[in-house]
Amino acid sequence: MYIDDRQAPASGARALLKLARKRWVAIGMSAVLFGGGAWWLADRGDGNPVVQELPSPIGAQGSAADGAGAQLAAAAQAALKPIDSVVEAVIRPGDTLDAVFRRLQLSVEDLAVVRSLPGVRQSLDILRPGDVVTLTHLNGELTSLKRRVSETETLNVQRDAGGQFAVQIVENELDVRVVPLHGTITSSLFRTVNDVGASDSVALQLAEVFRYDIDFAQELQPGDSFTLVLEKVWRDGEFLRDGDILAAEFVNAGRAYRAVRYTAPDGKTEYYTPEGKSLRKAFLRAPLQFSRISSGFGMRWHPVLNRMRAHKGVDYAAPIGTPIRAAGDGRVSFRGVKGGYGNTIVLQHSNGVETLYAHLHRFPKGVVVGKRVKQGDLIGYVGMSGLATGPHLHYEYRVNGVHRNPASIKTLPAEPISPKLRADFEAKTRPLLAQLQQATPPAPARVAAAR
Ligand SMILES: [Zn+2]
Repeated sequence: MYIDDRQAPASGARALLKLARKRWVAIGMSAVLFGGGAWWLADRGDGNPVVQELPSPIGAQGSAADGAGAQLAAAAQAALKPIDSVVEAVIRPGDTLDAVFRRLQLSVEDLAVVRSLPGVRQSLDILRPGDVVTLTHLNGELTSLKRRVSETETLNVQRDAGGQFAVQIVENELDVRVVPLHGTITSSLFRTVNDVGASDSVALQLAEVFRYDIDFAQELQPGDSFTLVLEKVWRDGEFLRDGDILAAEFVNAGRAYRAVRYTAPDGKTEYYTPEGKSLRKAFLRAPLQFSRISSGFGMRWHPVLNRMRAHKGVDYAAPIGTPIRAAGDGRVSFRGVKGGYGNTIVLQHSNGVETLYAHLHRFPKGVVVGKRVKQGDLIGYVGMSGLATGPHLHYEYRVNGVHRNPASIKTLPAEPISPKLRADFEAKTRPLLAQLQQATPPAPARVAAAR
């Protein structure tokens, strides 16, 4: 969504109420209350700012461009005193604040003064397209400038009665709420996650949490279900975004997988089974990141297709150039053209395991025979070289030369949490697991749904 620069008459009253609840951190100056604020910025959580209009105490409902001018004039007359105009300036590609001020016919001299205030310059010089700077002015003379500088901080410059500018950083505290969610897959993972009130980022998190156990690109089935304990982040009474998955259960083909998020005292965060075993395994279930597969394919639902076939491999349809990651730690044993496979990489892993990646578009620099790679490292890009009818990755998993279905791979037992962290782990994860349990429908329902 794109918001153009707009003007509207100030109202102030409601905005003042909101601001009064905030913690003000003054930088050397006394607090100056707002004169304007007819527009209030919210965020729908999808990264697109939404401009909301607050009711004006003087009845001027200036909406966007047309009519606003006339209403502004009428309102100004009714109030019998000059009132500030509030502009939400949306930064365009290549914009500078000088350009914005010139475009809006605001005083560039005022901007120069504001820039010279302590701590302001760095907060104003880095602008990204889509950023919003809220400017209040009286006939082109700046009366206030507001800009969010981080998720929790807003730069606020106000002109006082004496004409001096004062700078403040307003702290917008985040309010993290924890909610349970449950969904049953009917179409795509994305659609189902959206349907139960969470964003795409949650679907991607879910796929990453269970990347060692479930191949979300190939094995998702209608009737699979998930239960989540999810953080929802609010700011100033408005929903801001989804946070982290704190606990999750995913039922795939009738089998339940569980995970709980734990941050150790040293700050390291990882997902564990409820019993305290790491979810990490020697091999990823899929050598392509789920987000990559779905992004290029419109997040459509693919029925269970391209599963293990006579040709002893798994095919992942994905756009040309999609990064391929090493399924496990190993060494490059082949890199080059291999007949109908086209550009191919073969990795040699421990215990006689080999993985093969075919039809690549190209190889990244440095991925040469003999090179050691870590699980997740970039080893190639999806293409359609060799005998391929469309862009896809052909993936094989072999043990001592024999093809095996990656789904049947028995991986090494996962490492448990260290004994000295056990008590801390139990204390922190027990409430989350209790919430997960509570949000999970009774087992018979799940079995029936998963059939
Ligand atoms: Zn294939």
